[in-house]
Amino acid sequence: MTETAPSAAAETARGRNPLAFLDAEIEDFKAKGLYRRLRVVEGEQKSRCIVDGREVITLSSNNYLGLNTHPRLRSAAEAALRELGAGSGAVRTIAGTMRIHEELERRLADFKHVEAVLTFQSGFTCNTGVIPILAGESAVIVSDALNHASIIDGIRLTKAERRIFPHADMEALRSALRDVRAAPGGAERTVLVITDGVFSMDGDIARLPEIVAAAEEAEAIVYVDDAHASGVLGRNGRGSVDHFDLHGRVQVQVGTLSKAIGVLGGYVAGPASLREVLIHRARPFLFSTSHPPAVAAACLAAIDVLESEPQLIERLWENTRYFKAGLAGLGFETGASETPITPVIVGSGARAMKLSDGLFEEGVFAQGIGFPTVPEDRSRVRTIVTAEHTRAELDACLAAFETVGRALAII
Ligand SMILES: *Cc1c(COP(=O)(O)O)cnc(C)c1O
Repeated sequence: MTETAPSAAAETARGRNPLAFLDAEIEDFKAKGLYRRLRVVEGEQKSRCIVDGREVITLSSNNYLGLNTHPRLRSAAEAALRELGAGSGAVRTIAGTMRIHEELERRLADFKHVEAVLTFQSGFTCNTGVIPILAGESAVIVSDALNHASIIDGIRLTKAERRIFPHADMEALRSALRDVRAAPGGAERTVLVITDGVFSMDGDIARLPEIVAAAEEAEAIVYVDDAHASGVLGRNGRGSVDHFDLHGRVQVQVGTLSKAIGVLGGYVAGPASLREVLIHRARPFLFSTSHPPAVAAACLAAIDVLESEPQLIERLWENTRYFKAGLAGLGFETGASETPITPVIVGSGARAMKLSDGLFEEGVFAQGIGFPTVPEDRSRVRTIVTAEHTRAELDACLAAFETVGRALAII
């Protein structure tokens, strides 16, 4: 391991290092036990892989269905690379819209049963691109407290009024909507209700039927970010709207192509008018280069796989049930999870990092997560099982949790 050079080396001949506050911040991470190095994966990202030179079973990827190395995605990407080259060469509005980008959007729109889809470079840029277009200065955004960072940043890019309701508190949501409509001029305002479809740190599913009912009563727009539901929930992985059979009642759905889909990208699915306005105004779309054609080709192949190999999603859910039951049987606190994301909640950030480090020693890679991603006293090791994990691998993970959990007196 190379040590960071001492700050003295960075000091200029003229005196104090103007970046010294960074060193202070690093010391602070270390003092709080939150200092992390990036772990490096050698070779492919699979359920069993080499991390920091050590073979481990990973419970840390979002590769729910193992599609990142699926033969059909690999060959689609290879063919596109050979035929169309490595990059698209421009932003979409100048010369960077290739036939294959439009083909992917048409295919995703059909898959999601909506009029139109627009893709973005990532799920993150999708939220930061779309939210400011929907929420002008006079709008009100009503947002769940545990929504993803990219939603929070998207909201920060607007001048709209914000109302954050406590996580999954439907009474608070309804009362925020009533207040907004009852206030002077409230009847005229655009109101946008935003929620994750599956909450990324806790693994619970949004109470979408109630959210939709509340929004319909208040004539508000519903915006669901299905990053962790894409490829996981609903028929063939169509997401939370399909899971709850709410087609036609959720105006804006965001999805990611970076998690279960196995590649990279984000997309927004909704009415054709939304796509039209976005291609004129969404800033990440206008000012950042489009996906390499191999990315679009691999995503197209992924939709083929979702439609033709539903057994992958079945296996994902079987593994999920098995692993959750195992953790609960050992006495771990796993919160309100209903999906393949299962947090093992242990309290302080330092304790979560110790559990994560101990698991790594036992050959299991499960990342510790603390503040600011989750509240300090709800720090956790987050686990995600995939369709690729074998029963033997899941058993080995549970045995490691038992050993380290007992050593740290968590169970
Ligand atoms: C992961 C995630 C994103 C970001 O998606 P990327 O494609 O990885 O940028 C956006 N929203 C939610 C809810 C997420 O969980």
